[in-house]
Amino acid sequence: MQAESYNISILPGDGIGKEIAKEARKLIDWISSKATFNIHLDEEYVGGASIDKYGTPLSDETLKRIRQSDAILLGAVGGPKWEKMDFEKRPERGLLKIRKELDLFANYRPAIVFDPLIDSSSLKPEVIKGLDILIIRELTSGIYFGEPRGIEKINDKNYKGFNTLVYTSKEIERIAEVAFETAMSRSKKLCSVDKANVLESTELWREVMIETSKKYPKVELSHMYVDNASMQLVRNPKQFDVIVTTNMFGDILSDCASMLTGSLGMLPSASIGINSNGQKKAMYEPVHGSAPDISGQGVSNPLAMILSVGMMFEYSLNKKVIAEKINDAVRSVLEKGFRTKDIYSEDKILLSTNEMGDKVLEEIKE
Ligand code: NAD
Repeated sequence: MQAESYNISILPGDGIGKEIAKEARKLIDWISSKATFNIHLDEEYVGGASIDKYGTPLSDETLKRIRQSDAILLGAVGGPKWEKMDFEKRPERGLLKIRKELDLFANYRPAIVFDPLIDSSSLKPEVIKGLDILIIRELTSGIYFGEPRGIEKINDKNYKGFNTLVYTSKEIERIAEVAFETAMSRSKKLCSVDKANVLESTELWREVMIETSKKYPKVELSHMYVDNASMQLVRNPKQFDVIVTTNMFGDILSDCASMLTGSLGMLPSASIGINSNGQKKAMYEPVHGSAPDISGQGVSNPLAMILSVGMMFEYSLNKKVIAEKINDAVRSVLEKGFRTKDIYSEDKILLSTNEMGDKVLEEIKE
């Protein structure tokens, strides 16, 4: 029988993206050498690195190749070198193009608090101890994409700026399906966040969530208005397990939730799309950017990237056990007091990016 085989595209990008991608690669190479399945890793250019090489933040050839892969891992893009370029040509456009072309409509942002880092959060330890929640944000529609939009002149003294918050029932249905499926694999609790009391598009959002819930009787569905949800997230975040919400509400709530965990260098994410044939496409990346202020110094924290690798094993390769091993290894390294500079305090052991990658690998080997 032929062994399972997966093609993974790794796009380090710019700045610290290159440093943390190296650590991800090291981990995947080792797992691949021990696993019963095959992993083929292809390295590609994106962002500023791709502008320098091909004159565009994402070349058509790269897009074609990554389309064929089973999962995409991205470091980070951007940096001062390309900041003065036209908006359409900037590194960040490469990232947006991947999301759009692959129709990655579901953005997963977990907020997990590792006990050893509990003091890094601005919230009280008892509020966040053991926190493990997941925000699923709709990523390709809503007010960020709705038409009409623009700034128009009313008269010499007055202008109007406008955007449109629009969702079709099909768009809501597909994110609802993803959210219910994910809730089924966790604690079977799903909270849908909207503003159905004042926004018709989210009134429809709520109706479709309720309709979809009929297919998932085991999932306990609740609804919350976004203003209340933002308050509840800092008051008692552990009341949630999976939250599903619109593009803009998710943008804001996931940043708020990320601060519950204390550090940007610890936050992974996934953007997932499912096409009409039921095939899954997904990109995994840390939440942070290319950190030009520390790039090239070997001090960046690779853990967000490593945790993104874990998400990839869980959601694209269906290897939840490996994902759990990666999470456990990160937890254990932190418990032993190892820290990169961003999460360092005096009584701990300071490691470089490379050393932190090695420590996680050592834990997994054990
Ligand atoms: P940033 O996330 O790159 O950095 C913010 C701060 O957090 C910096 O002080 C940085 O040193 C620190 N930081 C970030 N990640 C870290 C890590 N892994 N380890 C240790 N410290 C870390 O955000 P920024 O400075 O606003 O943006 C820098 C560039 O990154 C810009 O060009 C921006 O457009 C781009 N960006 C890219 C992405 C992406 O690729 N997904 C996301 C955000 C920003």
